[in-house]
Amino acid sequence: MRILVVEDEKKVASFIKKGLEEEHYAVDIAYDGEEGLALAQINEYDLILLDIMLPRLDGMEVLRQIRRNGSNMPILMLTAKDSVEDIVSGLDGGSDDYLTKPFSFAELVARVRSLLRRKAREKTDILTVGDLSLSTSTHRVKRGEREIELTPKEYALLEYFMRNPNRILTRTLITEHVWDYHFDPETNVIDVYVNYLRKKIDQGFEKKLIHTIRGSGYMMRGEP
Ligand code: CA
Repeated sequence: MRILVVEDEKKVASFIKKGLEEEHYAVDIAYDGEEGLALAQINEYDLILLDIMLPRLDGMEVLRQIRRNGSNMPILMLTAKDSVEDIVSGLDGGSDDYLTKPFSFAELVARVRSLLRRKAREKTDILTVGDLSLSTSTHRVKRGEREIELTPKEYALLEYFMRNPNRILTRTLITEHVWDYHFDPETNVIDVYVNYLRKKIDQGFEKKLIHTIRGSGYMMRGEP
């Protein structure tokens, strides 16, 4: 994990760097906004700690330019003033969080960890239930080592099931999330599709993942 610290107060910058290195992060420092922006454009950081009051280019402008270039690196703003305006314009400008100076190191580390966790979560696009996995980016579905081919509707239905494991999904819920508004609720289309899906993902496997909840709907469950 590599972090960029953009902070002109040398003492504060080196205090942050030393502390983060003790937490095993790799840390680069920039002492003004231009240098910070340049480093952010050259390197792929996992997180940027960005002071607002900076020489040459202020933090808000650095933030704007980073976002304008399409980067979604997590950015934690450091603000000396407990100014609501700064915080609001920072968040509006695309920062992910802020910290008001002076802050304790423990608080800084907690925020850093939470932003990095959030980023890690967004990165993984694989949904899993038991030994079934689905990639939301490639749309590949596998049960164990077996690749499963699905039609677009079956895929949409499965993705909905996998995003809501261990939850009773009524036919109404399924209709609302997977079918469009032209759907005729009088038909048994949902049951038909659930059966198609079962044939593809459960047939031949001892452990069934799609369960009928009598009188209610269906539930996807990976654990017994
Ligand atoms: Ca400053």
